[in-house]
Amino acid sequence: MNYADIKKWDVANGPGIRVSLFVSGCTHRCKGCFNEEAWDFEYGKPFTKETEDIILKELEKSYYKGFTLLGGEPFEYSNQKVLAPFLKRVREKFPDISIWCYSGYLFDKEITGKMLPKWAETAEMLKYIDVIVDGRFVEEQKKVNLLFRGSENQRIIEVRKSLEAGRPILWEPPEYIHVVVDENPHEVGVAPEICGK
Ligand code: SF4
Repeated sequence: MNYADIKKWDVANGPGIRVSLFVSGCTHRCKGCFNEEAWDFEYGKPFTKETEDIILKELEKSYYKGFTLLGGEPFEYSNQKVLAPFLKRVREKFPDISIWCYSGYLFDKEITGKMLPKWAETAEMLKYIDVIVDGRFVEEQKKVNLLFRGSENQRIIEVRKSLEAGRPILWEPPEYIHVVVDENPHEVGVAPEICGK
Protein backbone atom coordinates (compact mmCIF):
# COMPACT_ATOMS: atom_id res chain seq x y z
CA MET A 1 0.00 0.00 0.00
CA ASN A 2 1.09 3.55 -0.67
CA TYR A 3 0.00 6.63 1.18
CA ALA A 4 -0.36 10.23 0.10
CA ASP A 5 -0.01 12.09 3.37
CA ILE A 6 0.09 11.98 7.15
CA LYS A 7 -1.60 15.01 8.64
CA LYS A 8 -0.76 15.98 12.23
CA TRP A 9 -2.97 18.33 14.24
CA ASP A 10 -5.96 17.51 12.05
CA VAL A 11 -9.25 18.92 13.37
CA ALA A 12 -11.32 18.53 10.20
CA ASN A 13 -11.77 14.77 10.01
CA GLY A 14 -13.37 13.75 13.29
CA PRO A 15 -13.69 15.26 16.77
CA GLY A 16 -10.68 16.55 18.66
CA ILE A 17 -7.11 16.83 17.51
CA ARG A 18 -6.17 13.83 15.38
CA VAL A 19 -3.51 12.24 13.27
CA SER A 20 -4.89 11.45 9.81
CA LEU A 21 -3.51 9.03 7.27
CA PHE A 22 -4.44 9.50 3.60
CA VAL A 23 -3.95 6.18 1.82
CA SER A 24 -3.55 5.82 -1.95
CA GLY A 25 -5.87 3.96 -4.28
CA CYS A 26 -9.56 4.48 -4.94
CA THR A 27 -11.82 2.98 -7.58
CA HIS A 28 -14.92 5.13 -6.96
CA ARG A 29 -13.88 8.08 -9.15
CA CYS A 30 -16.46 10.47 -7.69
CA LYS A 31 -17.11 13.58 -9.75
CA GLY A 32 -15.56 16.57 -7.96
CA CYS A 33 -13.27 14.38 -5.80
CA PHE A 34 -11.02 16.54 -3.60
CA ASN A 35 -8.11 14.15 -3.98
CA GLU A 36 -7.98 12.79 -7.53
CA GLU A 37 -4.26 12.05 -7.53
CA ALA A 38 -4.87 9.48 -4.78
CA TRP A 39 -7.02 7.34 -7.09
CA ASP A 40 -3.75 5.83 -8.28
CA PHE A 41 -2.66 2.95 -6.01
CA GLU A 42 0.98 3.83 -6.78
CA TYR A 43 0.63 7.48 -5.76
CA GLY A 44 2.71 8.77 -2.85
CA LYS A 45 5.13 6.79 -0.73
CA PRO A 46 5.22 3.15 0.38
CA PHE A 47 3.56 2.58 3.74
CA THR A 48 6.22 0.72 5.72
CA LYS A 49 6.84 -0.48 9.26
CA GLU A 50 8.75 2.79 9.77
CA THR A 51 5.70 4.78 8.65
CA GLU A 52 3.58 2.87 11.15
CA ASP A 53 6.09 3.66 13.90
CA ILE A 54 6.07 7.36 13.03
CA ILE A 55 2.27 7.48 13.42
CA LEU A 56 2.31 5.49 16.65
CA LYS A 57 5.02 7.77 18.07
CA GLU A 58 3.08 10.89 17.09
CA LEU A 59 -0.09 9.57 18.75
CA GLU A 60 1.77 9.34 22.07
CA LYS A 61 1.38 13.12 22.46
CA SER A 62 -1.32 13.71 25.03
CA TYR A 63 -3.31 16.23 22.99
CA TYR A 64 -4.26 13.68 20.37
CA LYS A 65 -7.76 12.27 20.81
CA GLY A 66 -8.04 10.25 17.66
CA PHE A 67 -6.70 8.70 14.50
CA THR A 68 -8.46 8.96 11.13
CA LEU A 69 -8.08 6.95 7.95
CA LEU A 70 -8.95 8.61 4.65
CA GLY A 71 -8.01 8.23 1.03
CA GLY A 72 -8.13 7.25 -1.45
CA GLU A 73 -10.19 4.36 -0.19
CA PRO A 74 -9.14 2.53 2.99
CA PHE A 75 -11.63 -0.28 2.24
CA GLU A 76 -10.13 -1.28 -1.14
CA TYR A 77 -9.13 -4.87 -0.44
CA SER A 78 -5.41 -4.35 -1.06
CA ASN A 79 -5.48 -1.48 1.44
CA GLN A 80 -7.44 -3.49 4.01
CA LYS A 81 -4.69 -6.10 3.98
CA VAL A 82 -2.20 -3.52 5.24
CA LEU A 83 -4.54 -1.43 7.38
CA ALA A 84 -6.13 -4.26 9.38
CA PRO A 85 -2.86 -5.27 11.11
CA PHE A 86 -1.86 -1.63 11.49
CA LEU A 87 -5.16 -0.71 13.17
CA LYS A 88 -4.58 -3.61 15.54
CA ARG A 89 -1.27 -2.02 16.55
CA VAL A 90 -2.95 1.38 17.01
CA ARG A 91 -5.77 -0.09 19.11
CA GLU A 92 -3.43 -2.18 21.25
CA LYS A 93 -1.20 0.78 22.03
CA PHE A 94 -4.04 3.30 22.44
CA PRO A 95 -7.14 1.42 23.65
CA ASP A 96 -9.07 4.64 24.37
CA ILE A 97 -8.32 6.63 21.27
CA SER A 98 -11.13 7.20 18.78
CA ILE A 99 -10.54 5.68 15.36
CA TRP A 100 -12.50 7.06 12.40
CA CYS A 101 -12.44 5.94 8.80
CA TYR A 102 -13.79 7.58 5.64
CA SER A 103 -15.00 5.20 2.97
CA GLY A 104 -16.83 5.66 -0.31
CA TYR A 105 -18.38 2.22 0.21
CA LEU A 106 -21.77 2.00 1.90
CA PHE A 107 -21.54 0.58 5.41
CA ASP A 108 -24.56 -1.72 5.18
CA LYS A 109 -24.81 -2.63 1.50
CA GLU A 110 -21.13 -2.97 0.68
CA ILE A 111 -18.88 -3.15 3.76
CA THR A 112 -20.97 -5.40 6.02
CA GLY A 113 -23.16 -6.77 3.20
CA LYS A 114 -20.48 -7.85 0.71
CA MET A 115 -16.99 -7.52 2.20
CA LEU A 116 -17.57 -8.81 5.71
CA PRO A 117 -18.79 -12.29 4.66
CA LYS A 118 -15.86 -12.58 2.23
CA TRP A 119 -12.76 -11.13 3.84
CA ALA A 120 -11.30 -11.65 7.32
CA GLU A 121 -9.56 -8.28 6.99
CA THR A 122 -12.91 -6.48 6.93
CA ALA A 123 -13.90 -8.06 10.26
CA GLU A 124 -10.53 -6.97 11.66
CA MET A 125 -10.97 -3.40 10.41
CA LEU A 126 -14.46 -3.19 11.91
CA LYS A 127 -13.14 -4.48 15.23
CA TYR A 128 -10.88 -1.47 15.64
CA ILE A 129 -12.78 1.36 13.91
CA ASP A 130 -15.24 3.34 16.06
CA VAL A 131 -16.87 5.45 13.36
CA ILE A 132 -17.16 5.18 9.58
CA VAL A 133 -18.14 8.12 7.40
CA ASP A 134 -19.61 6.26 4.43
CA GLY A 135 -20.74 6.89 0.89
CA ARG A 136 -19.29 8.33 -2.30
CA PHE A 137 -18.88 12.07 -2.57
CA VAL A 138 -21.82 13.44 -4.58
CA GLU A 139 -21.03 16.87 -5.98
CA GLU A 140 -24.70 17.80 -6.38
CA GLN A 141 -25.19 17.19 -2.64
CA LYS A 142 -22.07 19.03 -1.54
CA LYS A 143 -22.49 21.48 1.34
CA VAL A 144 -19.68 23.39 2.98
CA ASN A 145 -21.22 23.51 6.45
CA LEU A 146 -21.64 19.76 6.99
CA LEU A 147 -19.85 18.50 10.07
CA PHE A 148 -17.13 16.02 9.06
CA ARG A 149 -18.84 15.23 5.73
CA GLY A 150 -18.45 16.51 2.18
CA SER A 151 -21.91 15.78 0.77
CA GLU A 152 -25.33 15.26 2.33
CA ASN A 153 -25.68 11.63 1.25
CA GLN A 154 -22.74 10.62 3.44
CA ARG A 155 -23.48 9.18 6.87
CA ILE A 156 -21.46 9.18 10.09
CA ILE A 157 -21.96 5.71 11.51
CA GLU A 158 -21.16 4.17 14.90
CA VAL A 159 -19.60 0.85 13.98
CA ARG A 160 -20.07 -1.20 17.15
CA LYS A 161 -23.65 -0.08 17.82
CA SER A 162 -24.55 -0.67 14.18
CA LEU A 163 -23.13 -4.18 14.15
CA GLU A 164 -25.08 -4.99 17.31
CA ALA A 165 -28.30 -3.49 15.96
CA GLY A 166 -27.92 -4.98 12.48
CA ARG A 167 -28.57 -1.59 10.91
CA PRO A 168 -26.64 1.69 10.62
CA ILE A 169 -26.76 3.79 13.82
CA LEU A 170 -25.69 7.37 13.27
CA TRP A 171 -23.05 9.07 15.39
CA GLU A 172 -24.20 12.12 17.36
CA PRO A 173 -21.74 14.92 18.10
CA PRO A 174 -21.10 15.38 21.83
CA GLU A 175 -22.74 18.36 23.50
CA TYR A 176 -20.58 21.20 24.72
CA ILE A 177 -20.57 22.15 28.43
CA HIS A 178 -19.35 25.21 30.26
CA VAL A 179 -16.89 25.13 33.14
CA VAL A 180 -15.39 27.85 35.33
CA VAL A 181 -11.62 27.74 35.65
CA ASP A 182 -10.54 28.64 39.22
CA GLU A 183 -7.54 30.74 38.26
CA ASN A 184 -9.54 32.62 35.69
CA PRO A 185 -12.73 34.46 36.58
CA HIS A 186 -13.99 34.19 33.05
CA GLU A 187 -16.21 31.34 32.07
CA VAL A 188 -14.79 29.31 29.27
CA GLY A 189 -16.43 26.81 26.96
CA VAL A 190 -14.89 23.42 26.47
CA ALA A 191 -15.98 20.18 24.98
CA PRO A 192 -16.34 17.18 27.30
CA GLU A 193 -13.41 15.10 26.12
CA ILE A 194 -14.94 15.71 22.82
CA CYS A 195 -12.67 14.93 21.52
CA GLY A 196 -13.24 11.41 22.38
CA LYS A 197 -15.46 8.91 20.66
S1 SF4 B 1 -14.28 7.98 -2.51
FE1 SF4 B 1 -13.18 9.79 -1.86
S2 SF4 B 1 -11.10 9.59 -2.75
FE2 SF4 B 1 -12.45 8.12 -3.81
S3 SF4 B 1 -13.13 9.24 -5.62
FE3 SF4 B 1 -14.69 9.52 -4.05
S4 SF4 B 1 -14.14 11.46 -3.04
FE4 SF4 B 1 -12.35 10.74 -4.20
